[in-house]
Amino acid sequence: EKKKLLRLKYTPTLTLDGVPIDLMANVEMPDDAEQALDSGAVGIGLFRSEFLFMNRKGDMPSEEEQFWAYRKTAEAMKGLPVSIRTIDIGADKPLDGQDEGGHYLSPLGLRAIRWSLSEPEMFLIQIRAILRASAYGKMKILIPMLAHAQEIDQTLELINVAKKQLENECVSFDPNVQVGAMIEIPAAALSLPLFIRRLDFLSIGTNDLIQYTLAIDRADNAVAHLYDPLHPAVLRLIAGVIREAKAANMPVSVCGEMAGEPSMTKVLLGMGLTDFSMHFNQLLSVKKEILRSDMSVLKQSVDELLNAIEPEELQAALQKINAV
Ligand code: PEP
Ligand code: MG
Repeated sequence: EKKKLLRLKYTPTLTLDGVPIDLMANVEMPDDAEQALDSGAVGIGLFRSEFLFMNRKGDMPSEEEQFWAYRKTAEAMKGLPVSIRTIDIGADKPLDGQDEGGHYLSPLGLRAIRWSLSEPEMFLIQIRAILRASAYGKMKILIPMLAHAQEIDQTLELINVAKKQLENECVSFDPNVQVGAMIEIPAAALSLPLFIRRLDFLSIGTNDLIQYTLAIDRADNAVAHLYDPLHPAVLRLIAGVIREAKAANMPVSVCGEMAGEPSMTKVLLGMGLTDFSMHFNQLLSVKKEILRSDMSVLKQSVDELLNAIEPEELQAALQKINAV
């Protein structure tokens, strides 16, 4: 079975009706890039940079250390795009010293971009490191947990500050490096024009989108049974973001676990998704599903799924989709 999958590595990723699909990898460390390439990924859709900051007894990686980590990843990917997500710390991923509880640990607290904007000096170091690495490959900057216009504006302003600094220091970087947002808060999904107007691309973080839509703490086992990727509210939010982004010609991908779940591949294709980012282990299984999917047929059956409200209707619509 595994061998059969491996044979798919060099098969172009096209649906039955000829729609090209981009499959990218999620990674946590520069060394993962090799396996990402090995799995046939056409880029890194999500580099979870917080792993560079965790488990290091309180000290932070310097600009130089971060620069080399990003540069190494970019070079390993040989010019394929690499989206570095800026530090997504807090909640289930606390920094050392933050794990005593309080506002860092709450999924509703000072985490991800909220934390970065509260520590602008730290954030500038990371942005400078990513920009410097952009001279060695195709880097993109991906911002986690954005919800408010002023957070986007402040972030873009800091990126401009970093660019000016590097210019003044005669350090090279890609002046057109793209900046995108994780869409993982329902408020963001429901105010998409704020993001489309200001940014270059979107990536839907289904893990957090489910958490925040259903008010289920991802880290709390007592409510894990209610964490439901197929809740109609979740499906409608995801479909809405894909539709609205596509209508505006805004590149959009899904990088949460859902993207790497073969039983969800047809649903996402039917919603119009053409960019997936997932753990590299999942890539060929998802590709296998894509090769036997007809996007235009799926689009019609997904409309039924999105109209379904009762669990039985949902299950029936899902079965129909996966039988196509
Ligand atoms: C997500 O929220 O779906 C996501 C991809 O990011 P993380 O799981 O790292 O929060
Ligand atoms: Mg997330």
